[in-house]
Amino acid sequence: MKNHKRCQNIGCGVLFTPCPQVPGQVYCSRKACQQVRKNKWNRKKFATDPDYREYKQAAQEKRKEKNPNYWKEYRVRHPAYTQTNREKQRIRNQKRLKDPPEPVIATPDESVPVNPIVTGRYKIIPIHPDMIATPDECIVEITAIADG
Ligand SMILES: [Zn+2]
Repeated sequence: MKNHKRCQNIGCGVLFTPCPQVPGQVYCSRKACQQVRKNKWNRKKFATDPDYREYKQAAQEKRKEKNPNYWKEYRVRHPAYTQTNREKQRIRNQKRLKDPPEPVIATPDESVPVNPIVTGRYKIIPIHPDMIATPDECIVEITAIADG
């Protein structure tokens, strides 16, 4: 009997015969499973290899320059994808409003006045139930006129 393995792609789980040239093979040869394997590899490489990250980001910038409307057009061509993403984002936004992050409590230092607003530029993002992944942002400048 041959040495079979079960594909590790969630939702596949098919029994396959590993290729002898690929040690540690955990995904079957189906296109979808190979895509999952590549995506995982890419994500890991991106997170751990600064050179790879730099290369990928530069390539992305180049693509953006070449076709600045790519995502706009993609969303028009793939309405189901857009709708699903909007739904997911809406759920994330609602969850965020329901469970705000724990406030950060710093050890107070009596010698330094505590001013929660630091002079500088801030991005303001309107929050409403239909907020999507790329909301309309605006940049404002806030100047603190008094400490504490
Ligand atoms: Zn598979």
